[in-house]
Amino acid sequence: MAEMKETETVLHRTALVTGGGRGIGRAVCLALARNGFDIAVNYAGNAQAAEETAAACRALGVNAVVIQADVSKADSCQELVDSAVKALGRLDVLVNNAGVTADKLMMRMTEDDFDHVINTNLKGAFFCTKAATRVMMRQRYGRVISLSSVVGLHGNAGQTNYAASKAGIVGMTKSVAKEYAARGITANAIAPGLIETDMTHAMPSAARDAALGTIPAARCGRAEEVADAVAFLASERAGYITGQVLCVDGGMGM
Ligand code: NDP
Repeated sequence: MAEMKETETVLHRTALVTGGGRGIGRAVCLALARNGFDIAVNYAGNAQAAEETAAACRALGVNAVVIQADVSKADSCQELVDSAVKALGRLDVLVNNAGVTADKLMMRMTEDDFDHVINTNLKGAFFCTKAATRVMMRQRYGRVISLSSVVGLHGNAGQTNYAASKAGIVGMTKSVAKEYAARGITANAIAPGLIETDMTHAMPSAARDAALGTIPAARCGRAEEVADAVAFLASERAGYITGQVLCVDGGMGM
């Protein structure tokens, strides 16, 4: 039998995680690094957290880079994707994780409160997905995973802006799934419930207790539990799953 002359090349999968420095984003970076992905960790203002996340990824044996970009700006998202591709060589997975809240009852909510949340959570995901799918189309392979929320599916008093942004993620995900399915690109959303991060620590304790009371599992979720779901959807094993919203919420949204 003739010996194999060509050396088999191992494909290094890569992922860009927006808002990857802290909270769920950090857990996602680590879960993907554990699965062998090289990682681009995006952050907006907290460079130290992003550097710590990248260092933790490298300790798992993968390449990791840190890229500052404000996802609420279209040009920044294009530059972010370009930088990630330049640093890592390709782009297999985009996780639209960056998110903010500006909670208020609607009667007190200003246009600025509304725009800030929509621009970061929804338009940011749109800009990044648009730039990333251009690269993924050339590769004929890609995974887009966007963080929605149970609030996007059911609404929440005091979160009109946030709920609108997270419901928008669902509609956008299904549309992207339909546009790109034939090109080997899947698009799915994760809808977490109440997860222990800086975002939920900032909630008033009465609102937090009220939310806890609606969770059948009777506890908050951990960022790692969300990250494990993201890691599965990011894997090659999830290639026939697209346009779905996976709730990771201890039953909160049932
Ligand atoms: P955190 O508040 O802990 O972290 C938010 C992250 O988003 C930070 O890394 C932050 O970067 C980044 N970010 C914020 N604005 C921008 C911006 N303009 N450009 C780039 N990055 C930005 O949030 P969580 O980890 O709790 O949430 C992560 C995602 O999951 C969000 O989309 C959130 O809506 C969603 N989610 C969270 C839930 C929860 O219970 N925690 C429940 C449901 C959904 P930096 O570190 O530089 O500030």
